[in-house]
Amino acid sequence: MNTVNYLRISLVDRCNFRCTYCMPEDTPLNYLPKPELLTYEELLRLVKDVFLPLGIDRFRLTGGEPLVRRGVVGFVEALAQIKGVADISMTTNGYFLEELAEDLKNAGLHRINISLDSLDPAIFQQITGRPYWQKVWRGIQAAYGAGFSPLKLNVVVLPGINEQEVPDLAALTIDLPWHVRFIEFMPVGNEAYFQKTGWVNSETLRQRIRERFGLAEGTCLGNGPADVFQIPGAQGTVGFISQMSECFCDRCNRVRLSSDGWLRPCLLNEIEQIDLKTPLRNGATAEALQDLLRNLLAAKPEINYKEQTTRDTRIYSRTMSQIGG
Ligand code: SAM
Ligand code: SF4
Repeated sequence: MNTVNYLRISLVDRCNFRCTYCMPEDTPLNYLPKPELLTYEELLRLVKDVFLPLGIDRFRLTGGEPLVRRGVVGFVEALAQIKGVADISMTTNGYFLEELAEDLKNAGLHRINISLDSLDPAIFQQITGRPYWQKVWRGIQAAYGAGFSPLKLNVVVLPGINEQEVPDLAALTIDLPWHVRFIEFMPVGNEAYFQKTGWVNSETLRQRIRERFGLAEGTCLGNGPADVFQIPGAQGTVGFISQMSECFCDRCNRVRLSSDGWLRPCLLNEIEQIDLKTPLRNGATAEALQDLLRNLLAAKPEINYKEQTTRDTRIYSRTMSQIGG
């Protein structure tokens, strides 16, 4: 089994966008009542007393949309000051970066991934349910200007919607040192939409990019589950996250904490998740909480989407925004 050293922390389940593949406009949203969210103080205690002592020293802040939670810059600052924290990153829809990128950088955020599914404002609106392409683009520029490197852009590829834009999105990396990552659409969140449209295989996308520009193997700092390539002569790289067509469980180094304190060993595994919030709020000692984490890590199963029919460990009752995608 791999060493687990990376935790994705969902700061909040709320979001100001309504992406069709994640939390579409017409689904009833049962946001968590505020007292159910782990407070920043509770999160900092878990980091200090539970995660760091067991070797988890890299943290990604996500959601929902992490930047809709008030006080997030102060939280990043407090997290960055904890001795032993090796890396802090964030995944965001970019809406608030125009205002916050500089502050986040100064607070100690090391890396940032921004979701951008289209270069066309109309298609962006069709996917996200919001007319905010320009605002997000300014947010991306602000993050780049603040010095985040490598700046990563996440693209979920939707058949017939933005798949034809893949070579154009990849072309951003020619003149900019950005890392554009294409993510296979998976049936977490809006499963009905997934069943209707299906998904596009990363190899098909690579082929399209290869035909237009050529494509060589590449490397990128902190690439995690992405397969990294480079257009010849490009400043940046392109990555493919192929959780539908490949199994990268053997590379998995992460666990996930939901905003209400459930720790799960895998995005797709809800059954073996554990509740950290209740013991934490009932006054459990650091040792007792560490035991819970130790047990979860010891049992961390290696499963992937392809095995869905042969394992009963997965239940998609929560969307990516609730789990912390
Ligand atoms: N709101 C932030 C954002 O959109 O970047 C952070 C949370 S979002 C759940 C994290 C990532 O999960 C985004 O890049 C999003 O595009 C991706 N995602 C959400 N639902 C997905 C799905 N069904 N299949 C593949 N990726 C998905
Ligand atoms: Fe919000 Fe991110 Fe989900 Fe889109 S993918 S609805 S931005 S949480």
